[in-house]
Amino acid sequence: MNPNLMDLATSSPANLGPVPVTTSSPGIFSNNPYFSAGFGLLGVGAALAVLRQGARHAAALTKKQLLVTLEIPSRDKSYQWILAWISKQQQPQAHLGKINDIASSEGGAGGIRRRWNRFLEKKIRSATMPRHLAVQTDFKQHENGNLTADYSFVSGPGKHLFKYKNCWVQVDRVRETKMLDLVNGAPWETITLTTLNRDRTIFKSILEESQRAAIEQQDGKTVIYNSVGPEWRPFGPPRKKRNINSVVLDQNIAQDLMRDVREFINNSKWYDERGIPYRRGYLLYGPPGTGKTSFIQALAGELGYNICILNLSERGHTDDRLNHLLTIAPERSITLLEDIDAAFPVNRQSEEPGQFSRSQITFSGLLNALDGVSSAEERLVFMTTNHIERLDKALIRPGRVDYKVYLGNASKHQIIEMYIKFYPNDKNLAPIFAEKIGGRSVSPAQLQGHFVINKHSAQAAIDDVESIFST
Ligand code: ADP
Repeated sequence: MNPNLMDLATSSPANLGPVPVTTSSPGIFSNNPYFSAGFGLLGVGAALAVLRQGARHAAALTKKQLLVTLEIPSRDKSYQWILAWISKQQQPQAHLGKINDIASSEGGAGGIRRRWNRFLEKKIRSATMPRHLAVQTDFKQHENGNLTADYSFVSGPGKHLFKYKNCWVQVDRVRETKMLDLVNGAPWETITLTTLNRDRTIFKSILEESQRAAIEQQDGKTVIYNSVGPEWRPFGPPRKKRNINSVVLDQNIAQDLMRDVREFINNSKWYDERGIPYRRGYLLYGPPGTGKTSFIQALAGELGYNICILNLSERGHTDDRLNHLLTIAPERSITLLEDIDAAFPVNRQSEEPGQFSRSQITFSGLLNALDGVSSAEERLVFMTTNHIERLDKALIRPGRVDYKVYLGNASKHQIIEMYIKFYPNDKNLAPIFAEKIGGRSVSPAQLQGHFVINKHSAQAAIDDVESIFST
């Protein structure tokens, strides 16, 4: 037993006489060292709790007074710009460049200072490099139709730090695990930038700079938009404009089409005065690999327009959504409905089950959407098909399709032109090559493939011509 308790237990009854217990007079409890120690501890605990609470309040207050934050939700247009821009601020090369600058700017006499600076830079670099990166994959389509993937790293979810204009900025990228953006099904995200209150003006310049960088990236390029839910989203980075001369069409087809489009674009007043919806529909039809899509891409590049590609067979599309998407297509863009026959063959009964079951667009919904396309801005709608005979007449009547053009397999003129484009130093061999083709059906895409295989020898392309038809 505890010796003190034994004292109590064995103490004589005389010691247990009535003892007035008052707060002022020391009694059995106050005399008890355990009791007073308990009280003491309680007091210390309470004081600590108050202090902690106070510290928390003080920290919150200081944070409120000293720091300023900017929140950018993923729904905002600037979100992608800022994410890309921040990732650039955190590239290792940027820091290495700075270290090298320092190393080279200081002469031999400043050796200690130089080493100190280098040490500091290294420390900052290791502290500010985002450790959690996210990969962003972009597909790049080359002029020969090949696709390659480009990977870039962007700051992953979590907290990162970077220095901008001599101010430290903290980035907190938060991904909600339980919340989805109902529009596109992607996880809801926010980026919060925090900096010192006195540096708050840098938010404006960060926003402006990231926007400028995004616009510069698009300059001279074509942005391809895809529909994501009820909105248009850029698909991959902007692509290099395709040169209109790289698509070889039969005599005058390209020029006539270009003239028509330009005339339409320059005549808004004419449409306005007559109350005609300011839109024009084009249909490019013909066998696969004849340049339908390539020409539209080149045309967009030539006009400085972007392209909004709509896949009608895509899951989740409805008539209302289609209507909405066609109406809100970004300014200065071409709306492209590719392989339109796949979504709506003329004899809908014969269509294989499931062919367009993923999309809920009805044929009349499509017609209504096309008729409803109107805006103060011009609306250019292009459709492509390999099978015009499968299209319902209602779809291609004037007003919906105002200009139809057939792109067929390569004519002799196209064969010669393409040969010269690939072998400019061997122009004289072009007619021999065309002669060897001998009027057989060959698509420009097949020719392109053949020239790519024989890119080092114009003569080999002629000698090996039969390989085009053997595959
Ligand atoms: P389509 O849309 O008619 O099926 P694409 O435009 O997708 O054909 O062409 C497929 C590939 O063939 C592209 O890489 C393109 O460069 C090439 N190609 C097709 N037609 C032409 C053409 N008329 N001139 C130059 N290249 C062409």
